[in-house]
Amino acid sequence: MSAALIIDAAYFAAAFLFIYGLKRMSSPVTARSGIVVAGWGMVVAVLASFLYTLDVSEAARPHLTTNMVLAAIALVLGLGWAWWSGKKVEMTAMPQMVALYNGMGGGAAGAIAAIELFGHKTHGSIGLTLAVLGGLIGSVSLSGSLIAWAKLDGRINKTLRISGLQAINGLLLLVTVGLGALMVAKHGDVTMAVIAVFFILALVYGVMMTMPIGGADMPVVISLYNAFTGLAVGFEGYVLNNPALMIAGMVVGSAGTLLTLLMAKAMNRSVKNVLFSNFGAAGDDGDAEIEGSMKPVDAGDAAINMRYASKVIIAPGYGLAVAQAQHKLYEFVKLLEEADVEVKFAIHPVAGRMPGHMNVLLAEAGVPYDIIFDMEDINNEFKEADVAIVIGANDTVNPAARTNKSSPIYGMPILNVDQAKQVYVVKRGQGKGYSGVENELFFRDNTNMVYGDAQKVMVAMIQAVKSLEGGGH
Ligand code: NDP
Repeated sequence: MSAALIIDAAYFAAAFLFIYGLKRMSSPVTARSGIVVAGWGMVVAVLASFLYTLDVSEAARPHLTTNMVLAAIALVLGLGWAWWSGKKVEMTAMPQMVALYNGMGGGAAGAIAAIELFGHKTHGSIGLTLAVLGGLIGSVSLSGSLIAWAKLDGRINKTLRISGLQAINGLLLLVTVGLGALMVAKHGDVTMAVIAVFFILALVYGVMMTMPIGGADMPVVISLYNAFTGLAVGFEGYVLNNPALMIAGMVVGSAGTLLTLLMAKAMNRSVKNVLFSNFGAAGDDGDAEIEGSMKPVDAGDAAINMRYASKVIIAPGYGLAVAQAQHKLYEFVKLLEEADVEVKFAIHPVAGRMPGHMNVLLAEAGVPYDIIFDMEDINNEFKEADVAIVIGANDTVNPAARTNKSSPIYGMPILNVDQAKQVYVVKRGQGKGYSGVENELFFRDNTNMVYGDAQKVMVAMIQAVKSLEGGGH
């Protein structure tokens, strides 16, 4: 069997594993194994690239050893870093990590384009066009994702807002695309300086495009860059004549696009609006005068009230993840269920800090899927609930999103917790949510605050219900 045939078969197997893995990721029950399957696809694809060594041209032979050593060093560094960072990352820091890995993918696509363009390796107009487009999109995705990472990680706190920024960005993009078009028109025969300026401008554009975007829009931006990276990788796959790259790129590109659209819909914003509207500019003055006061109650009293309720809906959020209170929460839920209380979880699509964050967290604690509901499936039920308990969530339950036009979260669909007869909010103190705005829910007549770390509060609630049961016997 020729080396080429083995390589093609290996790429086919890798592509199959990517698609099959993605399919398994579509349900929480099979998602873990889906990730492992896709990981094996990656192993096959990486090993397949070493098979090229079986069939190198005479001209390339002298460089083989050096190149193999370089590839081995890159593999060890990449594997080591990914293993270490993957092991130590906190669940709450996952979006930053996704942004970083995403940037790496874009950077890899950009690097392939750079090799092709600087080395004058690609000739046909289709190949050149795709190399240039992949280089542009990959570079934008690299620098943009790095800014997104720095913002999510709290390393950049400034949101760049200068008047005329859109015009500057438009011009920047125009010049970059113009240079790309020049490369294609001249069949790649341009000076090194032109290619270098093209890449530098693309990188600067990524920074300029991401700097003005802030707050709650970051998750949409990350998944958009994810889609970009997939597209860039797919284009470069065509340039390198590598079917596995093409398929992986298409899979990532379409998955990223779908996720972007879903998240934009969940926040009731168009993607155009996210990218070009200087969202959050009203953030500082978005807090309207709020009437009423925050009324604290004891965790035990709240727990006993829930023990005698018929229906309780739980709205979990970022604070639950920070406190790692999911196990204790489920223990409390089981106690309520034993007392014949109907308990359901209501999951907002952007609760937490990454898509699916709450589902992963609850699955980890063993909460059965049939009591976990998406926002649109449960929002009408809050009005029938005796108690809605909000645990470490804030923006996703803020009624200002419905009514306050100057609020940065205006228009975002929210969980209707305020419609329940009684609302308990578990949080440590007066801390604001991700978007930084005050929450009028906390001041409402039917709302009481249960102050404390979510895990400690859950422990106190469990104790209160248990001591009640103990006393009752
Ligand atoms: P928020 O960030 O709005 O609020 C979290 C609340 O949890 C805070 O008000 C905080 O109050 C409280 N909290 C923090 N630590 C603890 C703790 N140890 N124990 C108890 N409470 C705690 O969370 P939501 O989940 O409601 O909203 C998610 C936000 O994040 C949205 O704005 C969304 O757009 C954004 N986002 C979402 C992403 C996603 O993909 N899901 C990605 C990136 C951002 P206090 O300090 O008083 O305790």
